[in-house]
Amino acid sequence: MSRQRLGQNFLTDRAVAGRIVRSAAVTPRSTVLEVGPGKGALTNQLVASAGTMTVVEFDSGLALELYDRFDGNEKVDVVEADARTIDPDSLPLISGRSYLLVANLPYYAATPIIRNFLESEHPPERMIVMVQREVANEMQAEPGDMSMLSLAVQVYADVNVLFEVPPEAFTPKPKVTSAVIALTPRAEPLVPADLQQDFFRVAKAGFKAPRKQLHNSLATGLNIDTTLARSIIEDAGIDSERRPATISIQEWSNMLESWSKAGKPFVVHGTSRKERAEALRR
Ligand code: SAM
Repeated sequence: MSRQRLGQNFLTDRAVAGRIVRSAAVTPRSTVLEVGPGKGALTNQLVASAGTMTVVEFDSGLALELYDRFDGNEKVDVVEADARTIDPDSLPLISGRSYLLVANLPYYAATPIIRNFLESEHPPERMIVMVQREVANEMQAEPGDMSMLSLAVQVYADVNVLFEVPPEAFTPKPKVTSAVIALTPRAEPLVPADLQQDFFRVAKAGFKAPRKQLHNSLATGLNIDTTLARSIIEDAGIDSERRPATISIQEWSNMLESWSKAGKPFVVHGTSRKERAEALRR
């Protein structure tokens, strides 16, 4: 992947870097994981305050520079890897410890990286990350403006947008404004682990046609008729004419319950058994 495509907008405003590090409240007792250290705008300040640091960089050239820079420093572990798929327990300084995740995330992979850590067996104690402003707002949205992304994050974490960062703070300058958010993983996800797959299947179906009324959207998403969709929604105590974006996590859970009671109707149109199995996995 080219550097451009790796979302390499390096932070050049030291005051912004300092503000991010202060927001993370790093102390000499902290175990810190930084995703995408790049040329070290945050790393330099984090290393000065943290107990130990692991930095995960996907760009081989930058990882090599970081190996050289921290060679012989036992406090810092440089790992060349893709943070979208890495298992935090595979990192020696992180495994078995409570840790903070701090990052100026590449725009193209911000959501999969956040989800990888939130959904992992060993999520961070807190994440302070910079993402595109619109993504930050969507993650923090309340019923009225919810989306699949709001649900996918809020089931696992409490979200707070802390401050915005203008394009001038980076080189090269991105086209969008950024925002720093704090994500605090919940002690228990709002949806129990064994129900999460079905919860997201129902919500995804419900968002299939986000501008339509819920019964139409759910009917399209599950491939069932609108009368059945309406009765599933109304059995959950929800007005079926509402828009999907107005539905809270609790209401999606109630809908999951009434969908389960109705025998989980979900009609898959596919010609082969393989296609149907794939559709059911999605
Ligand atoms: N932290 C640096 C700063 O603030 O200037 C760089 C931030 S830049 C927005 C994103 C960084 O993430 C780049 O160094 C890029 O190479 C790295 N990166 C891109 N995709 C990645 C991935 N999948 N896993 C880990 N790092 C990645």
